Amino acid sequence: MEKDIAEQLRLDRTHIWHPYTSIDNPQEVFLVESAEGVRIRLQDGRELIDGMASWWSVIHGYNNPHLTKVVQDQAAKLAHVMFGGLTHRPAIQLAQLLIANTPAGLERVFFCDSGSVAVEVAMKMAIQYNYAKGISGKNRFLTIKSGYHGDTFHAMSVCDPVNGMHQIYQGILPEYFFADTPRCRFGGEWDDADILSLEELLAQNHSTICAVILEPIVQGAGGMRFYHPQYLRRVRELCDVYQVLLIADEIATGFGRSGELFACNHARISPDILCLGKALTGGYMTLAAVLATTEVGYVISQGEPGVFMHGPTFMANPLACSVAVASIELLLAADWRKNIGRIETALKKGLEPCRRLNGVKDVRVLGAIGVVELEQPVKMARIQQRFVDNGVWVRPFGRLVYVMPPYIIANQELHILTEAICRVVEDELSV
Ligand code: PMP
Repeated sequence: MEKDIAEQLRLDRTHIWHPYTSIDNPQEVFLVESAEGVRIRLQDGRELIDGMASWWSVIHGYNNPHLTKVVQDQAAKLAHVMFGGLTHRPAIQLAQLLIANTPAGLERVFFCDSGSVAVEVAMKMAIQYNYAKGISGKNRFLTIKSGYHGDTFHAMSVCDPVNGMHQIYQGILPEYFFADTPRCRFGGEWDDADILSLEELLAQNHSTICAVILEPIVQGAGGMRFYHPQYLRRVRELCDVYQVLLIADEIATGFGRSGELFACNHARISPDILCLGKALTGGYMTLAAVLATTEVGYVISQGEPGVFMHGPTFMANPLACSVAVASIELLLAADWRKNIGRIETALKKGLEPCRRLNGVKDVRVLGAIGVVELEQPVKMARIQQRFVDNGVWVRPFGRLVYVMPPYIIANQELHILTEAICRVVEDELSV
């Protein structure tokens, strides 16, 4: 067995590119045999308590018997069919569920393949909306620094200008407007000065800006920051004043993660366009959805060229739609709010000891998201191995050690997870 594992890993190293890695100097990877509930089982028999929910997506844990059965049954009936000219019940049911549970006013659904593509679709909608209205030159975007929206071209163009990939693609990536990162924290005092940078950019450039795009409340991969709901309310007001659409990227925050079903609900606002992905299918399949208001839908459809110009091959894949329906129903059937509150309390208590460590800049928790921000970047290879040695799966990036576990995680498992984080962070800071 050991020889076979080594051979698998050798083949992986020889042929496969992992996310953000070098072929020349590959990072260590661990061979997964299976996963069940909140545990990832490695081929060598070790089990890891999962703190990542596979990048926000596996909210009900791995191999949930009901979700697995839904995929199996759907596969036996209709695994895929083109969406041009054809439709099916899973897509219709999913659209209805999304419209009923997302912020008010979003009534048209466009299904696509991944989060990044959803962001591309949303940005195309905003451009086409103004094109259809016959307003020329209103086709640029305003966003906020420290954001992350994906790795495809237009998504990259609205990622943080420093941490993102702007430098490599200079001259090719469009240059957009970046307001300062919101400073007022979630749960802290509101200061109206926080919105000034965005307000000024809008006041000066609104005739060329078709939309503001941002991650509501939680800025994810761009810094794991939680900002004040009043910021979001002010953005909504300003978008209305300057006739600019608001695109909310809830690909990471959607489906309860921040303590509200959607992060926009913290501010009680509705965007004009909403992007969903990740947890949409409970992490079973890749699927994303872009929801738009009826107004956005009709303007695009009534102006030139009279249609929305996008249509991916695997649009509304029935396997993905059916498991998304089942995942959302499973979430809504439980007292998800109380459960997220339970995880929040445990993360707060469990991560608190990190605050007193020299080299820890901040500890923050919102909903089922826990963050330990360090002053210096971690040494990835070493810290990753240490987490595995401690029986947990936590994958930091840069200065951030963070977790967003599956919602089914038990208190005892949260205890093991947060204890391991405190221990490994302390070790990391002492070498
Ligand atoms: N937007 C946000 C807020 C995200 O967190 C991510 C993924 N980390 C994306 C967009 C891109 O999604 P995907 O990786 O599915 O393309």
